[in-house]
Formats: sequence, C-alpha cells, structure tokens
Amino acid sequence: MTDARRLAYLEALGVDVYVRRGLAPPAAATTAATAAAAEPAVADVVPSPAAAAGLDWAALRTAVAACTRCTLHATRTQTVFGVGNRSARWMFIGEAPGAEEDRQGEPFVGRAGQLLTSMLRALGFAREDVYIANVLKCRPPGNRDPKPDEAAQCRGYLERQIELVAPALIVAVGRIAAQNLLATDTALARLRGKVHALGPRGWPLIVTYHPAYLLRSPGEKRKAWQDLLFARQVFARLEAGERVLP
Ligand code: SF4
Repeated sequence: MTDARRLAYLEALGVDVYVRRGLAPPAAATTAATAAAAEPAVADVVPSPAAAAGLDWAALRTAVAACTRCTLHATRTQTVFGVGNRSARWMFIGEAPGAEEDRQGEPFVGRAGQLLTSMLRALGFAREDVYIANVLKCRPPGNRDPKPDEAAQCRGYLERQIELVAPALIVAVGRIAAQNLLATDTALARLRGKVHALGPRGWPLIVTYHPAYLLRSPGEKRKAWQDLLFARQVFARLEAGERVLP
C-alpha cells in the first residue's frame, strides 16, 4: 500500500501523523503511541452447544441458514454467516448483524463496516485478507444487545468457524463481543491491552472498540488505533514463535 493511501486510512481513524520536514512519512507501526504492555489474562469460557461440531464450511453454512435454535430466526431477513479468507491469520469477531447486515447478509457493512475496513487498511490488510464474523448470526430486533440464551445457542457456530479458520490472532470488536467471548462482565477498558486465551484451545484474543461506538465517540479512535498496534505487535511475536500467553 502506498504511504498516501495508508495516511488516508489513518486519517479516517482520527490518527494524526506527524512528518518531519525532509523525511518520508513513518510506517503505520510508528505513527502512534506504543500500545500498552501485554499482560496475559486467561478467561473462563461458556460451554458451547454441539450444534456445529465437526461440520465443514458448506455444512456449517447450510446449518446456520436453516437455524431456528433461538427466537431471532423469526425476525431475521437472512442469516449473516461470516466473510473473508477462510485461512486467515487474523479473525475479527463482532456482536451481531445490524439492519444493513441483515439486508445484505454480510457482517460489518454500512458506516461502521466502512470504518472497520479503514482500520484494516491502516493495518495493511484488505477486507478479504481477514475473516470477519459475529457472535450472533441473526439480527436482534431494534439492534438490542444479544440475550445470553441467544449467544449460548449460537456459540457453537462461531466456535466451529474459529476452528475451521484456525487464526493466529482473534480481535474481539466491541464490548458485547468481548464480554460474550470471554464470559465476563469486565469493562472493555480493562480488557484492552492484554492477550486473553479463548476457549480450551487458548486462541490468543485481544479486544478493541466497535466501529459503531467510534462513530459515536470519535475521540476514542486513537485508543482503537493503539489496540490495533498492540494486536500487530502480538501477532509479530506469535509469528516469531514467542509465547504470548501464560
Ligand atoms: S442467532 Fe444463531 S442460534 Fe439464533 S436463530 Fe440465528 S443462527 Fe440460530
């Protein structure tokens, strides 16, 4: 990606890039304050239903499309399965489809989705490079928060998606996704800046803000960028074979 394009994406994130006269723009990795130091944390995980154990991609998609495990099936336009590279090294997991996602059948579209795409671009990714999914595959009416039983019923599908993608790093996008995945009510601010272990396999997971929240609170975009830099730092350590979890 050219420096000019990366700078444009960073601007969308509200990140100021300071360029000394006579010097080329800095690489994205050095444009913002260093993220908080990693302090590993391990979370308990809600037991998953066996809804999707052992399914391949096609069977999983078919099972989700026909799912009536919770009442959200009655109000959805369609299920929103997930999108992206099925062998991605990075997986981004949000909360649930909104109105536009319900209409289009794809996660993270609309304004929040555009901001997520900018966040990915700032990291040097195209949307197609990563895998994107939600905790819930059906839209909660009025965009309310997912109920615990809905998340529990849907959990097996997401767990199977994670197993099939087998990412190096998972980014939980937003408070609801983070709290659901980690089975905690800890505030998002206290979940950031740490590497969490997800599930029995201990998938490395970090937490950041939801782009919809960033659209409402643009002053927090800088923190989101710090989270992404932290994620990249963790990913580099993973790729180098370093241990990032206890
Ligand atoms: S939200 Fe999940 S569990 Fe509920 S009907 Fe949709 S796919 Fe099934």
